[in-house]
Amino acid sequence: MATFAVSNEKEMLTLPGDAVRQILWRFADRFDLQMLVQSSRGVARSTVAQLVAAGERNTHEWTPGKNGMMEAFDRAGITAAFMEPEEGGFISGPKNLALSLAAFELAWVDGGAATASLAGFLALAPIHERGTPEQINRYKSLSAPPQPGEDRKPWRGAFVLTEPIPYVGVDTGMLSGKVRVAEWANGEEPWLQVDKRGRFITNIAFANFVTAAVGSDDPRIKGSCMVILEETDEGIFDHGTPTKKLVHQLSSTGDPIFSMKVPASRIIGGYTVKDGVIIPNCNHGDVLEAVFKRTRVAVGLMSSAKLLSAVEPVIRYQRQRFRGAEGAKPGSVRYEQGIQQREDALHRLVDIWATGEAATSLGFATARLFDELEPIEKQKSAILKERGISGGRAEMKALKESADRAIELLSLKPGDPLRTELEADPLVQYVLMDAETNVICPATKLWNTGHGTNMLREAVSLMGGYGITEDCPGFLGNKWMDAQLEATYEGPEAVQRRQLTVTMTSEVFLAQFRAWTTEMRLIASSRPGTGACTLASAMQMWQWTLNHLQKTTDPTGGKLYHGQRQGVTFALADALCWLVASRYQILDVLELEKRGPDDPVASEGLEGTVQFLSDLCHVQAAAAAGEVSRICAELVFGYNCHPSWDEEEHRSCFLASELDELEETMPGISAFAVDVMGSDGSHPKKAGPCAGCAGNTDFLRLQNKLTACLSGSRLAKDRAAETVSKVMIPEALDYPA
Ligand SMILES: Cc1cc2nc3c(=O)[nH]c(=O)nc-3n(C[C@H](O)[C@H](O)[C@H](O)COP(=O)(O)OP(=O)(O)OC[C@H]3O[C@@H](n4cnc5c(N)ncnc54)[C@H](O)[C@@H]3O)c2cc1C
Repeated sequence: MATFAVSNEKEMLTLPGDAVRQILWRFADRFDLQMLVQSSRGVARSTVAQLVAAGERNTHEWTPGKNGMMEAFDRAGITAAFMEPEEGGFISGPKNLALSLAAFELAWVDGGAATASLAGFLALAPIHERGTPEQINRYKSLSAPPQPGEDRKPWRGAFVLTEPIPYVGVDTGMLSGKVRVAEWANGEEPWLQVDKRGRFITNIAFANFVTAAVGSDDPRIKGSCMVILEETDEGIFDHGTPTKKLVHQLSSTGDPIFSMKVPASRIIGGYTVKDGVIIPNCNHGDVLEAVFKRTRVAVGLMSSAKLLSAVEPVIRYQRQRFRGAEGAKPGSVRYEQGIQQREDALHRLVDIWATGEAATSLGFATARLFDELEPIEKQKSAILKERGISGGRAEMKALKESADRAIELLSLKPGDPLRTELEADPLVQYVLMDAETNVICPATKLWNTGHGTNMLREAVSLMGGYGITEDCPGFLGNKWMDAQLEATYEGPEAVQRRQLTVTMTSEVFLAQFRAWTTEMRLIASSRPGTGACTLASAMQMWQWTLNHLQKTTDPTGGKLYHGQRQGVTFALADALCWLVASRYQILDVLELEKRGPDDPVASEGLEGTVQFLSDLCHVQAAAAAGEVSRICAELVFGYNCHPSWDEEEHRSCFLASELDELEETMPGISAFAVDVMGSDGSHPKKAGPCAGCAGNTDFLRLQNKLTACLSGSRLAKDRAAETVSKVMIPEALDYPA
């Protein structure tokens, strides 16, 4: 049995249940969402799990079984979750949290199943975000599952952006799909000829319509747009061949070909005609920006669901590892604890669990913030319209004033009378939320899927050989591979990093970030066990480093913080993700501590659960601090040339003869001299004299402080490990292997 440095009085006895999760992820007062979670879980752990167990992932063809899964989604209300009640749905208002919760439940069992449900929403998203009222009504109503007594099949859609190489992938600007005017009779609506080939298009085997990105190939059409193509339109709607995927086989993916004639009313968002030219109201870039902003959050949550889903199967495997062996009699430590006797096995599981908690907290916080942002965004547009300001530069200028007010608000002390006025200003609220979502959305997609994939490998490794077999409980091997797709689609990591490098330097975000650092120190003063102080010190280091790099050049005079210099900007973006994930994890645990006592179910054993989840926060904050410290140190020092032994650069070294002389007046000084040159130019065997830290002493001070801030984090890990070794789990997993 591993020994633990700290005794444990408040212990978590069972895995956190729904009541705890509803408080942590803030849907305890949303009965509609709780119902959606239950029905999604029902489909995931029955239909989906059975398909996986039956080997349906072994074919990339679209099968009746997989089709049955889509119908199960319809029956469970998952398909309708995207629609407004008047369109056939049951949730009114913003739905980012709702869709994320459904995806989370499905991905708990299989990522491909989650993708299959999300891809339909992705197809509708361009229409939902930028479509005309007629387009929204038509396609959302057709895609809603039939109401009782209605005899029709719901339409399924696919989102068609990516094209065969060398065109659209990460770089959405290079479109080969084209649109031309096919017919345009005087005074009548124009007809368009649309030619587009897709690559890796989800849902395509059975899609009845697609939303496709195309560029103009005709002087009578301006720029680019997204168009809606229906299966029964005139021309070719070829669903294409299935992609031979190694992952997500429960969703359909293929390379379709379209060559179709459609009315111009299919341009998403509509168009105007000026001087004989069709001008789409929204170009394809505008539409994509609005769509991806929201849809990427659910993808990030898919990976985090898989991390948390790994906990129970790993615990069960570890405990049962030696049962049945001659020497492992019931009641013996070997029988009861199995591999959990070993500290490393427990510590690694704690790391996976902590990552899963942080990633999920970050993802759901982002989904909730998008829900809050939606009405404020509408209010902002109405206010600006009233002032005669519409889009582009004019809007940016108008919002600059609100940004200044937002920054002012962040600097005000509590109780300042100006606070109430600024807080009530919808434009200030918009600017603040917009700055935050612009960072935490790409952070969710990037960190949850990228770092999440690495941690899923850890989970697989804890299951030994079993982990990489089809029989592995919890399908962990599949989940690991699938996570790599989640890191790739809807824009791979480079796209998220690129976005972060722009949004994380906005003045409003940086002011918010400063306020978050102070907030973490305040939290630490009352809840030191959360690791909030460690996090605050790491946040301070990140901000110092960004500021330093923005003003610094490399030895050739090249700017360090520059769009082209991804070695600097991308690394800082990565570091930021660790910090924000840890922050939302801590905030969620505080919420549980505050609201838990009022909930009859969550209050049961609450103290132990809060203690354990706080320990996970501490573990995660320490991991974040280590990562940030490593990245920042490399960036601050790595762009200085290392001193060499040549004459110019060894001036700061002692000469051996010099030292002998000094030794006479300062006995012992030789012991401190590390870079000593002999009279013949000989020197110690190393790269050069040790690099100084001129100009960077502030960084070293911060790093020193941060290192000391790690105090207690391993004790928290020990405590969490002990809980993991004792926590009760159900006899068997509630979905098949
Ligand atoms: C199963 C599956 C389902 C999919 N579903 C859909 C769908 O429904 N609809 C759809 O439109 N598309 C879909 N896709 C396509 C997917 O969105 C793209 O594959 C993805 O965006 C990556 O583009 P790419 O494959 O061209 O990669 P590439 O652009 O070739 O990227 C390769 C590597 O280069 C890096 N890189 C690229 N550009 C840069 C840069 N500027 N700076 C630094 N690094 C860079 C990338 O990060 C990546 O690591 C799907 C893909 C798959 C595999």
